[in-house]
Amino acid sequence: MNYKIALIPGDGIGPDIVREGCRALDAVGKKFGHSFSYTEYLAGGCAIDATGEPLPEATLKGCCASDAVLLGAVGGPKWDTLPGAKRPEKALLGLRGGMKVYANLRPALLFRQLSNACPLKSEIVGDGLDILIVRELTGGIYFGDRGRNAAGDSAWDTEAYSAEEIERVLKIGFDSAMKRNKKLCVVDKANILETSRLWREVAERMKASWPQVELSYMYVDNAAMQLVRNPRQFDVIVTSNMFGDILSDEASQITGSIGMLASASLGDSGPGLYEPIHGSAPDIAGKDLANPLATILTCAMLLRYSFGLEKEAAAIEAAVEKVLDDGWRTGDIAGSAADRTALGSKLVGTKKMGDLVVAALES
Ligand code: NAD
Repeated sequence: MNYKIALIPGDGIGPDIVREGCRALDAVGKKFGHSFSYTEYLAGGCAIDATGEPLPEATLKGCCASDAVLLGAVGGPKWDTLPGAKRPEKALLGLRGGMKVYANLRPALLFRQLSNACPLKSEIVGDGLDILIVRELTGGIYFGDRGRNAAGDSAWDTEAYSAEEIERVLKIGFDSAMKRNKKLCVVDKANILETSRLWREVAERMKASWPQVELSYMYVDNAAMQLVRNPRQFDVIVTSNMFGDILSDEASQITGSIGMLASASLGDSGPGLYEPIHGSAPDIAGKDLANPLATILTCAMLLRYSFGLEKEAAAIEAAVEKVLDDGWRTGDIAGSAADRTALGSKLVGTKKMGDLVVAALES
């Protein structure tokens, strides 16, 4: 089977890491008998330079017509002084809105080989962490009515959710829990917010369709605390746009390695949008220093969620584990020279790390 993937390498380290992601996809395709055809599109700073727009129409059209979209990262100091609507990051909002992807899936995965990067005590993380945060992406307070009074000394932002918006993201939460450890925690502020009470009502209505999933609720302030106190209690968390924004960053930090974390944004039908969680890292762009593993693991999510290729996704994840087990590290996950000596790990660049994953897939 041939799958059409739209590529948006973007800016900074984006092109380097997307290249390594495609090499891993091709290696897994060869192993399992699939082929992937790629079409590159401009978005972000490079699109501004070429067309004057952060998200050219042709990019959105091409992405919507593909089977899945893989994005590197956009932005950088060169475009930092442009007005809001013309900034590279506008491309991200335009893509999410234009592709109608309303659920953002962010795994917070602490690889046992990298447990020294985790800021939490070893007795808290045990032999690793594996949490999936599902964040509602296109509703709630970030999209609600906002404004100021005439004097400008009073302002408001509005949190609004319809049952339909809640139901569709909860469905992704329940389905994701079924693919994992079958635990779903709805995080909200139902002791205060009416929207949160609606989230709970909808979840209660839906739970009979997923009888194997253990459903629970937690207030967001408690969830923020539990993520550092006892993160292993969580399997899948599903939550609103703003709470998800904050908690997913907290969860990614407890894994300690931004260069390892993937994400997927999904809608009802149509292609998903897949990107590593990190930015364009202008400080290391073009230096063969970027860790490509977040993007390679993002490709595993793409195979799993958009193409239903579970074995192939697992093969990529196993290849990454093998490379880490063998002691290979890019600078961001290598620790100090003393750590490397103590652990016997070896420092490599972007390209070599990609070679190692491909070799592990071919072995
Ligand atoms: P960043 O994630 O780009 O970098 C933060 C730090 O992490 C830097 O020291 C960087 O070198 C390091 N880092 C990030 N990814 C890495 C990788 N794969 N391997 C090794 N080290 C890595 O965040 P920032 O510095 O705040 O932002 C830089 C630019 O990226 C800004 O223009 C910002 O707007 C943009 N940005 C884009 C996205 C996106 O495209 N989704 C997300 C966040 C930031």
